[in-house]
Amino acid sequence: MLSPLDYFFGLFSLDIGIDLGTANTLVYVRGKGIVINEPSFVAVERKTRRPIEVGARAKEMWGKNPRDIVIVRPVRDGVISEFEITAAMLDYLIHKAHEQTWVPIPRPRVVVGIPSGVTEVEKRAVYDAAMQAGAREAYLIEEPVAAAIGAGLPVQETRGSMVIDIGGGTTEVAIFSLGGIVISRSIRVAGDELDEDVVRYMRNKHNLLIGEPAAERLKVEVGSAFPLPQERTFNVKGRNLMSGLPATVEVSSIEIREAVSGSVNIIVDTVKDALDDTPPELVADLMESGICIAGGGALLQGIAQRVTEEVNIRAYVADDPLTCVARGAGRVLEDYNNLRRLLVGTERGSTQH
Ligand code: ADP
Ligand code: MG
Repeated sequence: MLSPLDYFFGLFSLDIGIDLGTANTLVYVRGKGIVINEPSFVAVERKTRRPIEVGARAKEMWGKNPRDIVIVRPVRDGVISEFEITAAMLDYLIHKAHEQTWVPIPRPRVVVGIPSGVTEVEKRAVYDAAMQAGAREAYLIEEPVAAAIGAGLPVQETRGSMVIDIGGGTTEVAIFSLGGIVISRSIRVAGDELDEDVVRYMRNKHNLLIGEPAAERLKVEVGSAFPLPQERTFNVKGRNLMSGLPATVEVSSIEIREAVSGSVNIIVDTVKDALDDTPPELVADLMESGICIAGGGALLQGIAQRVTEEVNIRAYVADDPLTCVARGAGRVLEDYNNLRRLLVGTERGSTQH
């Protein structure tokens, strides 16, 4: 919670936490909460590579764009693949967050959550993009660290804690103790992969061609990682591959669970693998504190039950799992002196101490 004093000072210095996710980009402003929550999509003019739409409006064009426009997901697969476009997106976000304040204030301090495992060059690129977009100071933080802070885990304490962040492009698993990561794993299997599983399943089992947006809706509506108390059915529209004509097929939640089970197993195995390498003292702590699941993938029905069942440690879904990283990134600035060692440096020491 913010004290009135924090709130007062917050008015004179804008602190911004940005979650540069593969699926969603969020901006958290100290004292105001989440002010921007947009899909990480940019519509780009094919010829000039100039960004023309950012966020939800670009995602709406996904799969229906005219041919002179390309829809780019610049942070897909946890790698910042398109620097220019990422920079344009950051610029848009920082300006939009800055515009929303009603008092003239100095340029913001910005913390950007980046997937763990990005290269030095990419880190530098994100840092430069944030500074170019008008930040007074810019810092980077690894997403699992931000997720853990945002979820309220006691990462500073001796007692171990664990987070699983299931995003769009990557799943990150991290075990913390004494303010640092003890064990971490990052895999390129997450929400997007589940969508692709659903597309493949519909094609192979039902001869139905559906797009990724439809597959995602199906996953959100009836996807699961554990048997549901009440199994359901859902109508899916697509194109029949035999006749080439539009068709509607009824599928059950049991089928969709089967469709995504391969990827869910990979995620569960990664959690097991990380626990295998964890020192026994820490495992004992985790048996007390449990495993926190964050990111949009935490909303897959039954995921916590499934993890609990498989690793024999209680897993639970974080409060508001989609916003943990942005809130965590912002909170670092609120408690800068205690938490700054969790920030990542880049070669030329962007994290000024
Ligand atoms: P990122 O950090 O990579 O941007 P997010 O944490 O925003 O990713 O999570 C996005 C992923 O979460 C997407 O793959 C989306 O389909 C998935 N997702 C969102 N809501 C649900 C839900 N209710 N059930 C299953 N998956 C969901
Ligand atoms: Mg994320």
